[in-house]
Amino acid sequence: MSLDAVLSRIDSDMPEALERLRALLRIPSISTDPAFADDCDTAADWLVAELQGLGIAAEKRATPGHPMVVGHADGPGPHLLFYGHYDVQPVDPLDLWDNDPFDPQLEDTPKGKVIRGRGSSDDKGQLMTFVEACRAWIAEEGSLPCKITFFFEGEEESGSPSLVPFMEENAEELKSDLALICDTGLFESRTPAIVTMLRGLLGEEITITGPELDLHSGMYGGVAMNPVRVLSRIIAALHDDTGRITVPGFYDGVPELSDELEAQWQGLAFDHAAFLGDVGLSEPAGEQDRTPLEMIWSRPTCEVNGIWGGYTGDGFKTVLPSEAHAKISFRLVGTQDPLAIRENFRQMVRDMLPPDCKVSFGGHGASGASQTKTSDPAFEAARQALTDEWQVPAAYVGCGGSIPIAGHFQDILGTTPMLIGFGKDDDALHSPNEKYDLESFHKGTRSWARILAALS
Ligand SMILES: [Zn+2]
Repeated sequence: MSLDAVLSRIDSDMPEALERLRALLRIPSISTDPAFADDCDTAADWLVAELQGLGIAAEKRATPGHPMVVGHADGPGPHLLFYGHYDVQPVDPLDLWDNDPFDPQLEDTPKGKVIRGRGSSDDKGQLMTFVEACRAWIAEEGSLPCKITFFFEGEEESGSPSLVPFMEENAEELKSDLALICDTGLFESRTPAIVTMLRGLLGEEITITGPELDLHSGMYGGVAMNPVRVLSRIIAALHDDTGRITVPGFYDGVPELSDELEAQWQGLAFDHAAFLGDVGLSEPAGEQDRTPLEMIWSRPTCEVNGIWGGYTGDGFKTVLPSEAHAKISFRLVGTQDPLAIRENFRQMVRDMLPPDCKVSFGGHGASGASQTKTSDPAFEAARQALTDEWQVPAAYVGCGGSIPIAGHFQDILGTTPMLIGFGKDDDALHSPNEKYDLESFHKGTRSWARILAALS
């Protein structure tokens, strides 16, 4: 096989590849709005036709919501599954777009050429990088270097209600050696990255009740316990002076970084001053013995997301409130057990309650972190392929948020997810004037061609 020929084919085919992407971008497949249901269907049909045009057995598969597209291509190497989504976010406010979001245009910008339109980056542009890489392989070699299952979803932007049932019902068909997911970005818009750590999330709501009713603070103040005071004391006690979280057992299952990962992250030269400066801050506020990258990727957190009680309207009211409330979330890493942390957090709160106060709890989701085992040699092979293409050492990175699909591949199919994407920080995902850099589209396509060669 000749990777060079495949890469040259991608280079010379770029104008046509961009026209194909534009055709897909013209379909307003907004999944959350029922008015665009037919368009979602049209986008699925378009992708089925594209795959069939490459000689791949593909079909649209019905779900209670928008259809899935599933295609199978035989090949010699390992069995890879590629996931992307063809649905997009709504476009309002429309007046903030410079152009019709569904009439994609190529544009020169000071940072280079871009294609602008809804879905150009998230996720149609990214999805097409893989399809175009496959096209080039088939054109040059007559077939793909690996066995590939294509799996495109049409409900990602509206919570993926059909995804889990579909994966469960079709687990045998979708099971593969590795699931490639293209819905992430380059690190700081320049370093190719494989996301291997996703933090989990635990949400808790607490209500502390003191007196049975709101009281007059002149009459009862001083003698009656104020639940806002109690709640404030509890919240203040959740971190110590060094930024460590004090819930008993909280750090059970929090791993230390491997030496390799520590070295890679040091090489990323993360500009935390700019990261914080963008939002008017300057000092990292997490555990004081940790780097800012660790704080957002590999360390757990406890944050107060909301706190209320008493009188908060205009003017002033001398009330001694009956109730105080807070919403608190924990980002989890490693093998931290969300249910054990919930129990320990609740017990800590109960232990801090003074006489005459009661507490009630509500839970808002509890999911553990997912950490990809990069011991599979496919990861180093893919990392090398990315490094070769971008001429920048590719890194394994974390992601502060959560990407539920990755967990589904692992949990339902037992297939390791590999998250690679080429989006840039200024792509304006979900916002007006979304764009994808032509550099991302071109080098992203070449990256996949290299990765397929490396994994075969
Ligand atoms: Zn997406």
